[in-house]
Amino acid sequence: MKIGFVGLGNMGGPMCRNLVKGVNHEVVVHDLNPEAVRACTEQGATAAASLAALAGTCDVILTSLPTPRHVEAVATEIAASARPGTAFFDLSTNAPAVVRRLHEELAPRGITLLDAPVTGGVARAVDGSIVVMVGGEEAVFEQHRAILAAFSGTLVHVGPVGSASVAKLINNMLVLCNIAVAAEGMMIGRMAGIDLTKLVNIIENGSGDSVGFRGLAARGLKGEFKASFALDLAYKDLGLAVDLATEHGVPGLMAPQALALMRMGRALGHGGLDSTAMLKVYEVLMGKEVRL
Ligand code: NAD
Repeated sequence: MKIGFVGLGNMGGPMCRNLVKGVNHEVVVHDLNPEAVRACTEQGATAAASLAALAGTCDVILTSLPTPRHVEAVATEIAASARPGTAFFDLSTNAPAVVRRLHEELAPRGITLLDAPVTGGVARAVDGSIVVMVGGEEAVFEQHRAILAAFSGTLVHVGPVGSASVAKLINNMLVLCNIAVAAEGMMIGRMAGIDLTKLVNIIENGSGDSVGFRGLAARGLKGEFKASFALDLAYKDLGLAVDLATEHGVPGLMAPQALALMRMGRALGHGGLDSTAMLKVYEVLMGKEVRL
């Protein structure tokens, strides 16, 4: 079997390298960034001559791309070149409606698209414990379980195509709102003049803890804002979650506030920084840094 991997960034890169280590199949890779390709070929993957060449020769294709627009562009090229019988797992965080439409467009060509977004962040993509949630034909999922398990710790088949994207957007809504409120809380602690190291210790051992808080404490509060999960991508995810709430008539109370905070961060020019750069909005407004 030949497996193609497209999009070798912060998440795709480590997932692809774990795949190479974990399966006995050839893994062919493609990315617009030659450095990202090299980091995978050094571990045993083969660089594809082009996306069309990858799509035309692989039995299974995995993509990990930034936004729905990128996935649509790559899926169009895959549709033009892939053979009938190809299984296509999109690991990107995408809009459920886009995933369903692409599935409908690819199905008549014999290409089965499943949405397979992931959660756990870069650290868990690297250590291979990332969670993969899958929406789409269960038989195709089961047939490729070993391939997905080669780079993940937990696999959940959620339901029909698009259902995994719904689960992923809700998950990210929680973590991003947690980062937003964590940034606000830490600024309150700073202004009130309490010991921030002790405050972090209390929260990490208390009921205010969350993965979002831990990310802020590990990176933002140490002045490290290099993107692990870029603010631009986080903004995309929360925007899709707010759209989903609108689509289903659910009152949007929490998430739109965090989305506005993220929009301010992007307006300050921090879209390429880590999502924990939400903290920087409070720092600009208050004229004070919050650091451990
Ligand atoms: P990234 O920007 O680090 O990586 C994306 C990669 O896609 C880049 O290497 C880029 O060169 C490549 N790319 C873009 N267009 C391409 C094209 N047309 N052909 C080939 N390659 C192309 O992003 P990331 O953080 O790895 O995120 C990837 C996806 O995973 C996103 O949908 C994101 O929302 C999701 N995600 C990210 C995290 C995280 O913590 N970073 C966690 C879970 C899910």
